[in-house]
Amino acid sequence: MNCHELIDKLEKTHSLDEAEYLQLLSNDLPSYDAEYLRQRARLVTDRYFGRNVRIRGLIEITNVCQNDCYYCGLRHSNQNLKRYTLSNEQILECCRYGHESGFRTFVLQGGENPALTIEKVEEIVKLIHYEFPDSAITLSLGEWSDEAYEIFKNAGATRYLLRQETITLEHYGRLHPDSMSLENRIRCLKTLKRLGYQTGTGIMIGSPFQTVENIVSDLIFMAELQPEMIGIGPFLPHNDTPFGKFEAGKLVLTLKLISILRLMFPYANIPSTTALATLNPQGRILGLQAGANVVMPNLTIENYRKQYSLYNNKAAFGVESAEGLDLLKQELATADLYVTTEKGDFSNV
Ligand code: SAM
Repeated sequence: MNCHELIDKLEKTHSLDEAEYLQLLSNDLPSYDAEYLRQRARLVTDRYFGRNVRIRGLIEITNVCQNDCYYCGLRHSNQNLKRYTLSNEQILECCRYGHESGFRTFVLQGGENPALTIEKVEEIVKLIHYEFPDSAITLSLGEWSDEAYEIFKNAGATRYLLRQETITLEHYGRLHPDSMSLENRIRCLKTLKRLGYQTGTGIMIGSPFQTVENIVSDLIFMAELQPEMIGIGPFLPHNDTPFGKFEAGKLVLTLKLISILRLMFPYANIPSTTALATLNPQGRILGLQAGANVVMPNLTIENYRKQYSLYNNKAAFGVESAEGLDLLKQELATADLYVTTEKGDFSNV
């Protein structure tokens, strides 16, 4: 089959075999095939979501992290970062501001902070759930025990973001220290699915040592897991990490993967990520035009945003922020896209 036929097959059956994914991903597509893939993915997005873009308010609740992922600016060994943890009242203030602006999903993201115990996460989830019963709570707080995930769910969290980062053991070992394990990451993802969370996973595109074969394995893993959300964005280097001198992931490959994932998962919530907007001034819109349907403006108290430094020059202000919602609306309108404040649960009925 040629690439055009593979794109048709992917749209129709939502799946390809390993060799076919490799064929699509191994080389840059000729421009007419690249445009065809993008158009089909956007048409599928239009079919399921119209021209609506769902917004999620991102609250970066702590930059303290016990882990030492080689790519991440929050890594424990980075001594150049002033660490913070928001209080419950500060988190609620972010939610109040977000709720007034129209947000109906709050995403609590943070490093793996040992001071943030199961009880503390449970408490803040309950507080948000009590004050904003019409809003969804998404957690993105890393790896926990099965019991902890169950407690968070009972407290009112319904969605969880945990990228697999890479499903290839050898590649995982080049991105993480020995103290971390891919097996545990997978255990967490399976538990989240089993508990009924709308589960998000994903990868960085162009992370150091990543091969096309690694990406294909990630796609096949996602096809098995059937995540409700998929977060993919380019790897971006951070100076204070061992990967500070590596190249950033490529825009074209990131957009191509957004389109492929849209054809694989027509109903999934796929954000056009902050990393993509940081990589390229047009990144956010290009991601949406390639098949993404979500953006996640930053609701974190402004003073702390710079300290949540995952990679160099991370976008957190202007269009990327909750205060910039009007700017975002203007930017989206240029592409005939419109912010919707609906809660936007995953639904394939
Ligand atoms: N600790 C939680 C976890 O591991 O899922 C949540 C926080 S973590 C900082 C959120 C995401 O940031 C990770 O899943 C990773 O893919 C992304 N990230 C970290 N460093 C990055 C980098 N240098 N470039 C692009 N994305 C990065």
